[in-house]
Amino acid sequence: MRILLVEDDAILAGRLREVLEEAGLLVEIAADGSQAAFLGCTEDYDAAVLDLGLPGQDGISVLHHWREHGRDLPVLILTARGRWSDKLAGFGAGADDYLTKPLHLEEVVLRLRALVRRTRGHADPVLRVGALAFDTLSSRFTLDGQPLTLTAQEQRILAYLMHRPDQVVSRSEIGEHVYARDLEPDSNTVDVLIGRIRRKLGRPLIHTERGLGFRLSAPATPPG
Ligand code: CA
Repeated sequence: MRILLVEDDAILAGRLREVLEEAGLLVEIAADGSQAAFLGCTEDYDAAVLDLGLPGQDGISVLHHWREHGRDLPVLILTARGRWSDKLAGFGAGADDYLTKPLHLEEVVLRLRALVRRTRGHADPVLRVGALAFDTLSSRFTLDGQPLTLTAQEQRILAYLMHRPDQVVSRSEIGEHVYARDLEPDSNTVDVLIGRIRRKLGRPLIHTERGLGFRLSAPATPPG
């Protein structure tokens, strides 16, 4: 999952990035409102964490800007303690959830995962495709109930596919959600990573759709 983190406090942003990346998320930081408004409209993120007090353009107007431009990514706003008016304004502008500072960093991870899951229409925190399960709370994968060990990049790809079972996902879409903006991969890199995941899965769950991309689907149950 690719997250836009909008926070002008560099120390907090750094700590948040660390925790989110440890949880297997890809994080890009915007430190002011104008940059955030621009990135949210031009790049494709799975969710945003949006601080409200920002230099240049405040978080509420950033959120208005995104929504006015049809960007419907889930947004978790960060507010100062007790600023009820902020929360109200945030929800009015189209926020999906909020957290009050000081933050429990792990809670940011949990809320984000829940937001993305709900946005994709999954009520159960454990996503399943055949024998493969992804616990979105702990961000762990299991295959037949046994832990599956993946690198950070492999985990991002497989998590992205798990949120979109039976859908064809293009190589460029996968690339965008696995690599940072300044590291555009060539399509072969995605193929290499998919190949490694397939070997670890050891069964045909990731299908190649020629000329289109990949699809994660459970094998058809044999008749009888
Ligand atoms: Ca701030």
